[in-house]
Amino acid sequence: MQLKIDNMTFSYGEKETIKDISLHVNEGEFVGLIGPNGSGKSTLLKNICRALTPDAGMAVLDGENILSMNHKRLALKIGAVGQENEVPFDFTVEEIVAMGRTPHKKLFEIDNEYDKYMTNHALEHVGMAHMAKRSYRSLSGGEKQRVVIARVIAQESEFLILDEPTNHLDISYQMQVFDFVKRLQITVLSAIHDLNMAALYCDRIYVLKAGKIVLHGTPEEVLTPENILDIYGVHCDTIVHPITGKVSITFLPEGIYAQTKR
Ligand code: ADP
Ligand code: MG
Repeated sequence: MQLKIDNMTFSYGEKETIKDISLHVNEGEFVGLIGPNGSGKSTLLKNICRALTPDAGMAVLDGENILSMNHKRLALKIGAVGQENEVPFDFTVEEIVAMGRTPHKKLFEIDNEYDKYMTNHALEHVGMAHMAKRSYRSLSGGEKQRVVIARVIAQESEFLILDEPTNHLDISYQMQVFDFVKRLQITVLSAIHDLNMAALYCDRIYVLKAGKIVLHGTPEEVLTPENILDIYGVHCDTIVHPITGKVSITFLPEGIYAQTKR
């Protein structure tokens, strides 16, 4: 699965929110999207998975124009995990995950053995099989997020779009979510809030600022103290961590930064 976005633009009413965005995600890559709050990350991802319709531009997935696919075909190709994971009715965990199978089925077709197998397999993959019969609404935020990840696993799409999938999760769940996704070995485009997480998991990173892509490259290229100061206005120090081999960022509070300047 390869995604290519060309010159995508979108406005909410009069306000141009993403501007002339071009990016690509190669087969098997884990690509991160970072940038300050309000820079347009969610808007861009929604335009790619058709929750919004771009005003201009192209989105092509393995040679097929996403913008002209019907929703069922799109759901076979792209799994999406948004920031809000509330459901309108009280479903069980198992039912939520089984919904991932819908794009593979005809209207009103009941779940076959393979659907049941995939639902269970997905729940096991995220360590939630023991909660299959629980009410989804009764789960904690971290548990809900794991169920939603299980749903996209059951969906068996080859491309995954994630919008800050670990927001509000404690560190162990944050790591689990990214580890689960990594283990799937599929192609991923994910908005990521935490720069150290982005450094740990991304092959490449795009930086969005005020609706435009201002930088892109490997985490080492993008996550430098100069760039981070420019993008977020905060001082930091970076090292290549001896164990992970990845960039590790330490943010410097004003007082400490001032001391380093003496
Ligand atoms: P990010 O995900 O990077 O925090 P968003 O894509 O959510 O940024 O928002 C980008 C900009 O678009 C912000 O200025 C935000 O206020 C605005 N925006 C987001 N959603 C809507 C909406 N439904 N209607 C109007 N403006 C919106
Ligand atoms: Mg967002």
